[in-house]
Amino acid sequence: MKNEAVDAMIEQALDTRERYARVTPADLAWTEAGAMRVTFDDEASGEFSAELLRAVCPCAECRGTHGTQPKAFNVLSSVKLKGAALQTVIEQVEPVGNYGLAITWGDGHKEGIYTWSYLRGLVAQRG
Ligand SMILES: [Zn+2]
Repeated sequence: MKNEAVDAMIEQALDTRERYARVTPADLAWTEAGAMRVTFDDEASGEFSAELLRAVCPCAECRGTHGTQPKAFNVLSSVKLKGAALQTVIEQVEPVGNYGLAITWGDGHKEGIYTWSYLRGLVAQRG
């Protein structure tokens, strides 16, 4: 996944956060290919591969905060290489209140909360 494309999607999702603030999922399913398909109550739907979901992880560590570089998909140290493939393995998906999802990844990362408005904003960019 190209970083510029991912960055553009994230930017779009953040820009449309207000517009989609009240969007909720009408349906949630897994495709045969292992992607998460979300159909929203405004009838938009999007498929999110595990790779994409990890790439757009909204947590502060992955996105970087003021003055720091995002850590996601930076060159991995040799110590971390062993767990690299696990970065895109989804171990668990849990609802967070009524506003989003938390994903636990194979490498133990679980800080990102994917709000419905964020996911809906990602779809807008792709359509
Ligand atoms: Zn993250």
